[in-house]
Amino acid sequence: MFVDIAKISVKAGKGGNGSVAFRREKYEPMGGPAGGDGGDGGSIILVADEGLRTLMDFRYKRHYSAENGEDGRGKKQYGSDGKDMYLKVPTGTLVKDEETGIVLADLKENGQQYVCARGGRGGKGNVKFKNSIRRTPRFAEPGTKGEAREIILELKLIADVGLVGFPNVGKSTILASVTSAKPKIANYHFTTLKPNLGVVSIGEGQSYVLADIPGLIEGASEGAGLGLEFLRHVERTKLILHVIDASGQEDRDPVDDFYKINEELKKYSEKLTGKEQIIILNKTDLPQAQENIDRIKKELGDHEIIEVSAATGANLDYMKKRAYERLLEIEDEVEFVDEVEVERFFDRKERDTIVISKEDGYYLAEGEFLERLVGSTNFDDFESFSNFQKVLMDKGVIDRLREAGAKEGDLVSVCGVEFDFVD
Ligand code: GDP
Ligand code: MG
Repeated sequence: MFVDIAKISVKAGKGGNGSVAFRREKYEPMGGPAGGDGGDGGSIILVADEGLRTLMDFRYKRHYSAENGEDGRGKKQYGSDGKDMYLKVPTGTLVKDEETGIVLADLKENGQQYVCARGGRGGKGNVKFKNSIRRTPRFAEPGTKGEAREIILELKLIADVGLVGFPNVGKSTILASVTSAKPKIANYHFTTLKPNLGVVSIGEGQSYVLADIPGLIEGASEGAGLGLEFLRHVERTKLILHVIDASGQEDRDPVDDFYKINEELKKYSEKLTGKEQIIILNKTDLPQAQENIDRIKKELGDHEIIEVSAATGANLDYMKKRAYERLLEIEDEVEFVDEVEVERFFDRKERDTIVISKEDGYYLAEGEFLERLVGSTNFDDFESFSNFQKVLMDKGVIDRLREAGAKEGDLVSVCGVEFDFVD
C-alpha cells in the first residue's frame, strides 16, 4: 500500500557533562582547574531526497535516536561530539509536530535539511568557570538533554499535473501511454488504489510529473469510498487534466460528470477550485463519442478542450505538449512556513514548563528547565549557589512564587532542593 503519512519519534543525543578536575603535577601542588567540556549530543536531521517516493521505510522503523556527547575529562580534554543522524525523506515531505499539529518544515527542494531534534549542548568543564576571583571552581556544567519529540511526516506528491475524472474514463490508460508508469487498467471501479506517478518527457530538460489521482467519486470529499485519502495528492498540482469519457459509457452524461467532479474538488478544498484545468475528451475512437463531442464543446467551451484516444494514442502528443506549455504559464505558488512563529512557539513552551504549586506546606517550582539548573549547581559552592539564585530571579520564578503566596521564611522546593523563601 502507498504510505504517505508516518509518525516517528526522534530523540537527539544528550550533551556530555563538563568535568570537574584539577591539575596534579609534580611541582604544582595547588593545580588549577583542568576539567574539559562535554561534547555536544548528535542531532537528528531530515534530508529531502528526490530519489525517494514513499515513506514506507518509516513504517518499519519508528524510533530514532542520535549519539550522546562524551563527558569531558581531566587535563582539559574535551569529550567528543555525538554523531548527527541523517534521515532521508522524499522531497515534498511536510514535517509536523505531533502534539500541536504545527508545521515545522516543508521540505520542497532536493537536499533541503531540517533539524527535527537538536542535540543537547555539552556542559562546560570547570576550567571555564575560573576567573580572577574564583580560582578553583568546584563545579562544572552538566550536558543538557537532547530534544525529543514525535513528528508526523506527510508526503504530498509533488506532481505538476494531475489527472482527475470519474472511474473508467481512462486516466490510467492515459498515464500509461504518456509515461513509463505501469498503472493497473481495468474496466471496474476502484482499480487504482494508489496514486500513480510518471514523468512526461517532451524533450531534453522539458519534463513534468503527471499523477493519476484515483478514487474521485461522488461523496469523496465527505470520506466516502477511498477518495479523501487521495484528494490530498491533487492539492499540490499546478494543472489539472480533467478527463471525460466522451462516449458516455455507463449511462452517464459527460457534461454532468464534469460538473460533479468539480463539485467534489471544491468541497475538499477551495485551493483546488482555483486550479487551471484542461478538459481531455477521451475515448473519441468510439462511434458514440461523436454526438457528445459537439455538445460538450458548446457547453464547456470556455475551457481548453483536447480530444484524444488513449486506446489508439490519437492526439496524446499534442496533449503532452499543451500541458507543458500551460504549466510554464502558471506561476509557482510558494507555500510559506513562518519560521519565526515556529520558534516563538517553542520559547513559549519552554517558559510554560516551569510549574508553581503548593503542597504539604511547600511551595514547589518544577520543570525541565529547573531540573537542568539544579543539575548544574553545586550547592556547596557559594558562587555556584549565587548563580542559581540569580537565574531564579531572572526567569521570574521568585516573582511567581510570591504571586502564589510565598512569604519570607516559607519553605520552597525547587526540583527537590529545599530552602527558605527570602524576598
Ligand atoms: P480509469 O479508471 O480512469 O483509470 O480508467 P482506465 O484507464 O482503467 O480505463 C477504463 C477502461 O476504459 C479500460 O478498459 C480501458 O481499456 C478503456 N479505455 C481507456 N481509454 C480508452 C479509449 O481511448 N478508447 C477506448 N475505446 N477505451 C478506452
Ligand atoms: Mg485508474
